[in-house]
Amino acid sequence: MDRKKKLGQFIEACRHSGLKITPQRVAVYEVLLTREDHPTVEDIYNEVKKKYPFVSLATVYRTVETLEELGLIRKVAYWGSSVRYDANTSDHHHLICVQCGAIRDVEFCLDWTPPTNIQGYRVHKYSLHIYGVCPVCQAKEN
Ligand code: ZN
Ligand code: MN
Repeated sequence: MDRKKKLGQFIEACRHSGLKITPQRVAVYEVLLTREDHPTVEDIYNEVKKKYPFVSLATVYRTVETLEELGLIRKVAYWGSSVRYDANTSDHHHLICVQCGAIRDVEFCLDWTPPTNIQGYRVHKYSLHIYGVCPVCQAKEN
């Protein structure tokens, strides 16, 4: 994933929709671009706060919402009560740990493509969620 290019796209999209480009807004997207663990809004907030101590949770929420509306990030899954976000918007699948809620990308190629029309639905994109117990949680079992 080309971070510079993606940040450029974001700044361009902000300009296009008349959104102010603030360092805090950019920082929110940067956190999402660098993390592959599919953080929650609170996770993003905690990381942005290290650099911008006066950022508010509301600002982070709004920025995440805007990023999603712009199609630059997407919701991955609801785990418990928290929504998880992903800056990787290409079609890919996820491994979800049922014990700690860790979400990782599936790195091998799953040889499955859905039909373009399912039960009358035009298919836009797809993602499989595979549930199991992660290696860290397995190690704790013993
Ligand atoms: Zn786990
Ligand atoms: Mn992902």
